[in-house]
Amino acid sequence: MPQSDTRIRTVVLQPTPFCNIRCKYCYLPTRDDTSTMSLDTIETTFRRIFESTYADEDLTIIWHAGEPLVLPVSYYETAFQSIERLRPTSVRLRHSFQTNGTLLNKAWCDLFRRWNVGLGLSIDGPRSLHNANRITRAGKGTFDQAMRGARLLKAEGIRFHIISVLSQAALHKAGELHSFYLEEGFHDVCFNVEESEGDHVSTLMQQGKDSTRLQFLQFLQTFWTLSREAPGIDFIREIDGIITRIFRPEEAKVGNDQVEPLAMMNVDCKGNVGTFSPELLGYRNERYHDFLLGNVHTHTLEQMLHSEAMEAMAIDIRAGVEACRQECDYFSLCGGGAPVNKLAETGSFASTETSFCNLVQIVPADLVLRAFSQMEQSLVEVSQSDELLPACA
Ligand code: SF4
Repeated sequence: MPQSDTRIRTVVLQPTPFCNIRCKYCYLPTRDDTSTMSLDTIETTFRRIFESTYADEDLTIIWHAGEPLVLPVSYYETAFQSIERLRPTSVRLRHSFQTNGTLLNKAWCDLFRRWNVGLGLSIDGPRSLHNANRITRAGKGTFDQAMRGARLLKAEGIRFHIISVLSQAALHKAGELHSFYLEEGFHDVCFNVEESEGDHVSTLMQQGKDSTRLQFLQFLQTFWTLSREAPGIDFIREIDGIITRIFRPEEAKVGNDQVEPLAMMNVDCKGNVGTFSPELLGYRNERYHDFLLGNVHTHTLEQMLHSEAMEAMAIDIRAGVEACRQECDYFSLCGGGAPVNKLAETGSFASTETSFCNLVQIVPADLVLRAFSQMEQSLVEVSQSDELLPACA
C-alpha cells in the first residue's frame, strides 16, 4: 500500500447513527441506534490524525449520519474545542454538518456562526414533494419543521446549501422546484437522484436506467435554463461542479478522494474506521472484511493502511479506476467514480460504468459540453455575418 502520498483530506464522523425522522428512501440500517460517539473517541481520532504525517493542510470534518442535531449543542462545542486544542497550526480545518433541519434553533445558529460551520440542509422541494418521502416516525410530513429551520438560518444570516433528493415525481417538476427555491431565497442547490442503497430500492432504478437518464437530463436542462433566465440561483452543484472540472488549467488534475486510501477517513460512533466511500462503513462483506480498517482505540493509521481490508479493497478499487481510465471518455472529469456504487450495481469494485456515474458525471458533462458547443457555433455565425457586412465609410 503506497503511503508516502497518503493525505487525509476529509474526516466523516458519525456522532450518532440515530435519526429523529424516517425518510422513505433512507438506507441506513442503524438509524434507530441511539449510541453516541464519546469525547474520548473524538480526541483519539484526531490525536491519531494530527500525530501522523497524513493530515492535509486543509481538512474538512463532516458530522453526518443519522441526524447530527439530535445531540446537544454543548456536545459539539466541547468536541470542537478539543479538536482545536489538538490541531497543529499548519492544519486549517472546517466543520460541516448535513442536517434535516427539524431541530434547528437559535443556539445552533450561534454555534454555526462561532465556528464558521459549513451547512447543508435536506429539503426536497415544495410541501408535496418534500412530505412524500421525508416523514416522521409517525408518518407525518416534516416540511413545516424543516422550513422553520431554513427560515431561521436565513433570519440569522447563516449561509447554507440545499440538498434535494429527486424522486420520480420531482424529475418532472424542475420549474416547480426552481420557483420554490427562488421564493424561499435558496441560492445554492444540490441534487441527489434517489439511489438504491442498502435495503432501499429506488423507484427510479426500477423504471430502467435509460428512462431515468433521459428524465434527469431534461430536468437539469430545464432547471439550468430557468436559472440563467431568472437570477437568484447562484450555484447548482451538478452544473457548476462539472464546469470547473471541464474548464480547468491543463496541468490541473481532477482528484477523486473516494478512490484514494484514507483521503476520506470515515469513523463510526464506536471508533471503527473505514475509507473510500463513507456509505461502506457499517455494511458486512466477507471479501473486504466488512470494510473495516481497524478502530482508533486499538490501531494506528499505519496499521490501518496495512490492514487486510485495505489491501483487499485497494487492489480492486485500483483495478476499477484503471479500467475507467482505459475505457471512459469522462475519466479526466471523474477520476474513477464511487466504489460504493460500483459494488452495489455490478457486484465488484473492479468495474466501470454504473447508472450512478452516468447520472452524476456523464449527464451533466454532456449537458455543459453541448451548451458550450452551441455557444461557440453561434459566435462563429455572428462573426461570419459580420464579415459579410459592408465596411463603414
Ligand atoms: S464516469 Fe463512470 S465509467 Fe467514467 S470514469 Fe467515472 S466511474 Fe468510470
